Amino acid sequence: MKSHAGRRAAVAGLEGLCPRRGLPLTVQRRAVLEALAARRDHPTADQLYEDVARRLPGISRATVYRALEVMVRAGVVRKVWYAGAATRFEVPERRHHHLVCVLCDAVVDLHQPALDRLPGPGRAARGFRVLDYSVQFMGVCAQCARSTKTPPRQSSGRQSHEGK
Ligand SMILES: [Zn+2]
Ligand SMILES: [Zn+2]
Repeated sequence: MKSHAGRRAAVAGLEGLCPRRGLPLTVQRRAVLEALAARRDHPTADQLYEDVARRLPGISRATVYRALEVMVRAGVVRKVWYAGAATRFEVPERRHHHLVCVLCDAVVDLHQPALDRLPGPGRAARGFRVLDYSVQFMGVCAQCARSTKTPPRQSSGRQSHEGK
């Protein structure tokens, strides 16, 4: 949904964000940012390492990992994670949500304005300060559904709300 020019502008914006957050934009960080912005599939750190190593031969896995961690802490890169799978990364765009396939681990962006207006936890949070949120729908992607004859059944007797 994003144009190539829009993507370039986003990378430029992120690169500008680094120094503003007190993070010098090193060659390595720039390469990681560009590799991340070039993908839409929420890559893992290892996938990013492979992309970056093609451009910067000789860069170590540890360097890529460290660049990611530092940029996550500075808010230049965002982590997408859920239990039982490797941490994935994305560039922080406007609020969006995710469709997560439990069979192939695909993570797809979901833009649904109604989900952007969920009520906050209010007083129930007891002083906890919410910085951000994102909804993750766990399920089976269309491709996996086609190649799996019998989709995993829910163990409980509850009715599924996932209509077709
Ligand atoms: Zn799948
Ligand atoms: Zn996303």
